[in-house]
Amino acid sequence: MTYREIMKYIESEYNIINSTPCHVCGGKYLANDLEVVLMDNMPYDVCECVCTKCGNEKTFEFVAPFIEDKYMKRYKKLLS
Ligand SMILES: [Zn+2]
Repeated sequence: MTYREIMKYIESEYNIINSTPCHVCGGKYLANDLEVVLMDNMPYDVCECVCTKCGNEKTFEFVAPFIEDKYMKRYKKLLS
């Protein structure tokens, strides 16, 4: 996967987060923290999000098969 493709992937993750309304108040979620975890040898993006209105927390999970060590640093930088 190229860097450009990864950027697109991250963008689509953010689109999902941004288009998901808070189930408590209908507010917007903001990505707070991102972690990559391995489940069954498959890397997942686990994104902790917080509602900007009421503070409700929600965790989004995305399959992230492209994540390799060489991308991790860059990737984390982008999201911080
Ligand atoms: Zn809310």
